[in-house]
Amino acid sequence: MASKEYRIYLPERKMPRHWYNIQADMPTPMQPPLNPSTGEPLKPEDLASIFPMALIEQEMSTERWIEIPEEVLETYRLWRPTPLVRARRLEEYLQTPARIYYKNEGVSPAGSHKPNTAVAQAYYNKQAGVKRLSTETGAGQWGSALAMACSQFGLECTVYMVKVSYNQKPYRRSLMEVYGAQVFASPSTQTAAGRKALEKNPDTLGSLGLAISEAVEDAASRSDTNYSLGSVLNHVLLHQTIIGLECQEQFKMVEDYPDVVIACCGGGSNFGGIGFPFLYDKIREGKETRIIAVEPEACPTLTKGTFTYDYGDVAALTPIINMYTLGHDFEPPGIHAGGLRYHGGSPLISQLYHDGLVEARAYKQLSVFEAALIFARTEGNLPAPESSHAIRAAIDIALECRETGEPKTILFNLSGHGHYDLSAYDLYLSGKMEDYEYPQELIEKSIASLPKFG
Ligand SMILES: *Cc1c(COP(=O)(O)O)cnc(C)c1O
Repeated sequence: MASKEYRIYLPERKMPRHWYNIQADMPTPMQPPLNPSTGEPLKPEDLASIFPMALIEQEMSTERWIEIPEEVLETYRLWRPTPLVRARRLEEYLQTPARIYYKNEGVSPAGSHKPNTAVAQAYYNKQAGVKRLSTETGAGQWGSALAMACSQFGLECTVYMVKVSYNQKPYRRSLMEVYGAQVFASPSTQTAAGRKALEKNPDTLGSLGLAISEAVEDAASRSDTNYSLGSVLNHVLLHQTIIGLECQEQFKMVEDYPDVVIACCGGGSNFGGIGFPFLYDKIREGKETRIIAVEPEACPTLTKGTFTYDYGDVAALTPIINMYTLGHDFEPPGIHAGGLRYHGGSPLISQLYHDGLVEARAYKQLSVFEAALIFARTEGNLPAPESSHAIRAAIDIALECRETGEPKTILFNLSGHGHYDLSAYDLYLSGKMEDYEYPQELIEKSIASLPKFG
């Protein structure tokens, strides 16, 4: 049984050398993405104006293990392997027989799991001779991760930051600028998509879908620039599997194995990252691990969305992908887990959820912040509001174990720290935060405008 450690450190030399590609093992392969202008399945050339070929190949690959380049491993070593932590004080507080572990991705330079893919993407773009990357960011975590990675590889970086976060989280913008990036509030006047949105509604708070349109337009219109996406796409989830692969080694060190694996789910990258290696064991070795995605009630993509072809952005510039979606013109309310405000989801996770291999649940933000405070006051770490969705689910399952007496092993991903989210914590502590559930009528209205393809 588990030893007495709190923090389970993997020696650097045991860091995984390959990423795991779930496309090799999916019982139902995902439906192909479609070209937005022809409606035909996407060809590698269709993406070549915004992505380097190495990433396009990973996007479409069905090879199971993909080698991590040495330069990427070298950069990962700035903060990896990350600790797996046994949350003994949380267990004690909950009086649960469950063993709770969390993987702490908040220790990265940018404070979240996102540098795992940012570093890989910057590397492959540099190799391809690209000079500049454009991207969007919601809450600012992705923008700061990419800005950090670009500074490591000597690339320029331009970030379109959703306006609600640009106003709410000025320090995230400062961090991106420290790393040398140029940051615009989206919608901006830099792009046609941004100008059109401002004309329609000058007071719009923006959305991730709209910021994506701006960043894609920027990259497509300049030959020295590529686009970089922080979630949703297959190659992003691939790079994130280092999280789950490290966890597996760490569990071996303490002779334990999770019954439940939990992560919050926006575009799905930290969920896929921790979950896919365990899903491999489930698909190939018949393990009965429950793998649970947690999302906000205010943006309930998996739990209330429709599984169908939709665009990834508001301006309909991106490929059309088969996924759970709330509709590409869905404008999520300004909840405080900014990283979870996206209308769609990863096509890989959507297919796996559709096939019943992973579960999903949704929580309202007050209960999420309640869990965040319990965690901060027992374990000492301040969690990101996004990650706190996973904490809520872990606590609920640990409390069920208290009822049934089952000593389950629960693993959740602490996808990031909450040091830039203190204004949201202030609001919660002052009793002014409100719950929000997205109205069913609005979901139906947005679904009605889905593209007629597929
Ligand atoms: C971006 C982000 C998320 C959500 O993105 P996924 O792709 O779903 O992982 C969750 N947690 C943190 C800390 C983030 O920065």
